[in-house]
Amino acid sequence: MMSVIHRLPDFLANQIAAGEVVQRPESIVKELVENSIDAGAQHVTVIIGAAGKSLVQVVDDGSGMTETDALLAFERHATSKISSAADLERIITLGFRGEALPSIASVAKVELKTRTPGEDTAMLVRIEGGTIEETTRTQGDIGTSIAVKTLFYNTPARRQFLKADSTEYRHIADTVQRCILSYPDLRVTFISDGETIWDAHPATLRGRVAYLFGDKIAESLIEVREENDMMTVGGFVGRPNFAKRTRGEQFLFVNGRFVVSRLLNHAIVSSYENMVSQGEYPMYMLFLNLDPRGIDVNVHPQKLEVKFSNERNVYTMLNAVVRRSLYRTDLTPSMHFRDLTQDDSSLTRTRLGSPEEDPQRPQPRYDSYSSLGRDMNVDRPVAGRRLDADTVDTLFRSMGVDAGQGGDGAEDDLVLLPSEKPVSDTQFLWQLHNKYIFTPIKSGLMIIDQHVAHERILYEKALAALAHAAPFSQQLLFPHTMRVSQGDMALLDTITGELAQLGFVIRLTAPNFVTVEAVPQDVRIGMEESILEEMIEQYREYEASGLTDIRHNVAASYGCRAAIKTGEKLSPPEMQILIDQLFATSNPFVCPHGRPVLVKLALGELDRRFGRTS
Ligand code: ADP
Ligand code: MG
Repeated sequence: MMSVIHRLPDFLANQIAAGEVVQRPESIVKELVENSIDAGAQHVTVIIGAAGKSLVQVVDDGSGMTETDALLAFERHATSKISSAADLERIITLGFRGEALPSIASVAKVELKTRTPGEDTAMLVRIEGGTIEETTRTQGDIGTSIAVKTLFYNTPARRQFLKADSTEYRHIADTVQRCILSYPDLRVTFISDGETIWDAHPATLRGRVAYLFGDKIAESLIEVREENDMMTVGGFVGRPNFAKRTRGEQFLFVNGRFVVSRLLNHAIVSSYENMVSQGEYPMYMLFLNLDPRGIDVNVHPQKLEVKFSNERNVYTMLNAVVRRSLYRTDLTPSMHFRDLTQDDSSLTRTRLGSPEEDPQRPQPRYDSYSSLGRDMNVDRPVAGRRLDADTVDTLFRSMGVDAGQGGDGAEDDLVLLPSEKPVSDTQFLWQLHNKYIFTPIKSGLMIIDQHVAHERILYEKALAALAHAAPFSQQLLFPHTMRVSQGDMALLDTITGELAQLGFVIRLTAPNFVTVEAVPQDVRIGMEESILEEMIEQYREYEASGLTDIRHNVAASYGCRAAIKTGEKLSPPEMQILIDQLFATSNPFVCPHGRPVLVKLALGELDRRFGRTS
């Protein structure tokens, strides 16, 4: 019988590969820019037409290619970047498969112009549908320009699947943006339909953030910079009070490559614990650099995912490093008058942030493989609720990751410290509208929200009681019996244990009755029933918003409901106790829901406001 199997012609094989490599115009931008970076370019220009559908052109001033290489580059599996299996184990370039150019050339019309520094003229190659149509020598600058026209012109079905211009444009802009962020030393120019969208000159990473997102965001970032034997972590994380309601501004680069990792995202975001509210996403741009042998980048067609040989250690270190950076920073937000005079229509949380870092300090420059973490001034490392081994295990399992060996473990019992505390003197305490406490500090004025402050205190007390099973209970002289609904009864039944640890001794009596026999010491007389009722309500809200940690929910609803309310008059000694207790908590800056507890107003701001120069 005749054989039915035959080898596919190269052109068809390339088109099939293109299905994976070239998903949309953005893929071309990504592949070409990566090639330019690999070629050592200092300046990369990305030019697109009709959101990349009619044109994607990338021009660089890199190494260029010789005539032979220029033709070879379009051959399947032709690459200058690896040559052995051993090379594949330690990839330090962005490309390595030799697939991009032949794939692109099989689904578009391509024009390549390239010149090496040793030559006087450039080589021009025109390819259509995978066939070389023209090769000539011509005038041209050192470097390479690749223009990809009419993507998918020969595969109408795929062309049809392209999305609206606005969508395709967004994808391209995102990719260019990542490039601007990940290579601060590289000049990146982006032109769309003749309009220059970005022209980012070499800068520091913070400079690049300022260029893309504005000075305010850039100034608010907290620097991260640490290294150990395994890897270096550098970059920035956002202040909790800047947490955006989008996931957009989160960037993770591993050895210079933008990657998407649910697991590492979790490592970063969980460092914020409850400093950000549900549904808010802290901004970050972090660069991990580690031995290329410890990672596998060959697991995803677009190389957007990486596999770490020791995922768990990477997770643990990243989590600890981000936490330390956050906790090293004084997170007390500052008030600025100049903000208050701007667009009053949109009073957003973002106006509460301020740069606490010294602007004079030289900013680090990150190139893809540079070593970070020089002259780190790691003072007392501090961290909040520690992520214990069990939690990490569960997390890894839920993400289908092999847990591997135990990580190096984070530090215990560390606390956040503001750089300034109010002076301890009741004379200097003043309550405004039974709501805010005003008190002088060295740099100006501190304003404390009394309810939120008490909430933080009670929340931590409750957590401690839950952790150590040491209730601070007061027996009621006359137990209260209260009526509850069927649903509340069921809920109370599931959390009776936690409530008892907190100090609420309750007995579920008749079908719809609960007897309260003891309550925590902080619960004021006469409030026993209402607090319990409100707690149940609050607890349900947490559950509804997806919070499943029983202890957190019990502690937070207790804190929220038992705390002194806005509108309650406090005597100076009461204010003093509140402040002392607040500053004894592990995080006096935010309540368990992420709302700010303190705000400070710097003298300098007042001076500016009053037109004083000094
Ligand atoms: P890979 O990047 O995986 O090696 P590509 O198909 O993207 O595969 O590119 C093939 C080869 O063409 C590269 O290995 C490189 O030698 C050469 N090349 C591509 N783009 C450029 C460029 N902009 N400058 C210099 N050489 C390039
Ligand atoms: Mg490539």
